[in-house]
Amino acid sequence: MSETTTTNGRIAEVMPQLNKVNSEGHVRYGKMLIDGEWVDAADGRTFNAIYPGTGKAIAKVAFAGNEDVDRAVTAARAAFEVGDYAKMNGADRGKLLWRIADLMEGHIDELAELETLNNGKPLLESRWVDLPQSINCFRYYAGWAGKVSGQTIEPDMNVNAFAYTLREPIGVCGQIIPWNFPIQMATWKIAPAIACGNTVVIKPAEQAPLSILRLGELMLEAGMPKGVVNIVTGDGPTTGAIIVEHPDVDKVAFTGSVEVGKLIMQNAAKSLKKVTLELGGKSPNVVFADANLEFAAKVALSGIFFNQGQMCAAGSRIMIEEAARDEFMEVLSARAAKMVVGDPLNPKTRMGSLVSQEQMNRVFRYIEKGKDEGANLLVGGERVGEDGYFVTPTVFDGVKNTMTIAQEEIFGPVASVIAFNDVDEAAAIANDSRYGLASGVWTNDLKKAHLFAKKIKAGTVWVNTYNMVDNALPFGGYKESGFGRELGQASLDAYTQLKTVWVDLN
Ligand code: NAP
Ligand code: MG
Repeated sequence: MSETTTTNGRIAEVMPQLNKVNSEGHVRYGKMLIDGEWVDAADGRTFNAIYPGTGKAIAKVAFAGNEDVDRAVTAARAAFEVGDYAKMNGADRGKLLWRIADLMEGHIDELAELETLNNGKPLLESRWVDLPQSINCFRYYAGWAGKVSGQTIEPDMNVNAFAYTLREPIGVCGQIIPWNFPIQMATWKIAPAIACGNTVVIKPAEQAPLSILRLGELMLEAGMPKGVVNIVTGDGPTTGAIIVEHPDVDKVAFTGSVEVGKLIMQNAAKSLKKVTLELGGKSPNVVFADANLEFAAKVALSGIFFNQGQMCAAGSRIMIEEAARDEFMEVLSARAAKMVVGDPLNPKTRMGSLVSQEQMNRVFRYIEKGKDEGANLLVGGERVGEDGYFVTPTVFDGVKNTMTIAQEEIFGPVASVIAFNDVDEAAAIANDSRYGLASGVWTNDLKKAHLFAKKIKAGTVWVNTYNMVDNALPFGGYKESGFGRELGQASLDAYTQLKTVWVDLN
């Protein structure tokens, strides 16, 4: 495809920049961040970082094993218990977070390009959505640092006592994140952890560690004391599992698949670590006949195709009221057919490459499954080019909620359209899922909107919009989409524990 040629041309332009950055020592690819130092894996093992747009390796990354994770946890423990950070008050941690945000902003183009280079998502998204949201996340939690406190409480018993609670950090937090929004997922976990005074050992997904390594460097530049944030790179079954089993890690925060989430919960139970899990979804986006159908169709498409559909909150089940089905489908399919995939590094591209060959194969397996089970492939379902992992936006019509493509998380650009007749049927279908992460409802009837918002079992309900995420608003799942909330004030609960102090006044 012509876009692929452009991609190759572009990568040739970008690579010297990457190398230049390398030779100046700004980005130490091949090394990871432990105790404030850029280090190799103890056994020297490395793996390749790939540019999904071409499928070619662009950097070497260290592969952390037992010894490396142990050093990172020891460093995080020391930073938590003694030293500059342990003595730092909340206001100063807030200033530190703010400095990190400023440095990210100063390097926003470089970070966005790295994100696209390692993930394949369009630069348009990295530069104008992911990075600004991440920068503001650091600022949002900078505001909370020093303002997280307990209460004074009057005891219920008739005793002469003064009682209060202290809201204290949990300690060493193991954070395991996915590849779909690397820098955002890192930020959502690091910023509240630091605001509350914890220390961190974070493992990026093996597919996309580069932007997080660069973020680590900016954190040091911002004056982050050594050992406070350690970045260990490697794969899940090795590096991730070692973090989860490490006896000196106090908490594990995980975002990823349900299957791995369950495994993590089991393994964390051995030392009874605190666990928060943010796990995928099969989110219904429900359009009633009275809605603005044109606008609903437009937003429903971005609700599933943003980030090539590789989103935990993706509105992958588009539900349309039977009465408006023909009109809606006409707009939806026409718009979907017009969407093109292209060179992720071209600033105008709206859909880029999937993250990996593995992910692309997974998507095609589901597309075949959809056809086999009798859904009607309306648009897309094809690979574009032979380099990279480009898949056309795909829409299945006539989907029944019992079909595999309506029940399982595909994590790719595949929309399943399901019809319904009324509010009760819509809610029943929407809730007939093991997931409960997000949902959307489209109607101009206020009562219907609120009624539906109450009926739906999901952590987020978007009314007449989709995919809106805000640093101040809690995000997380019902049912098998996990537990614990990220963002907003809710995340402070996940990174603190309460201590009750009872002072006898007799
Ligand atoms: P995943 O396997 O759940 O990976 C998420 C993170 O967990 C990665 O950092 C991974 O490491 C790590 N991990 C894997 N096995 C682990 C273990 N035994 N112990 C500790 N950590 C472990 O997700 P994936 O392989 O990237 O994608 C597979 C599917 O998961 C997707 O197709 C999608 O359905 C779902 N997913 C959901 C989300 C979400 O936001 N909810 C995000 C990503 C994926 P490595 O990847 O480095 O091995
Ligand atoms: Mg994986």
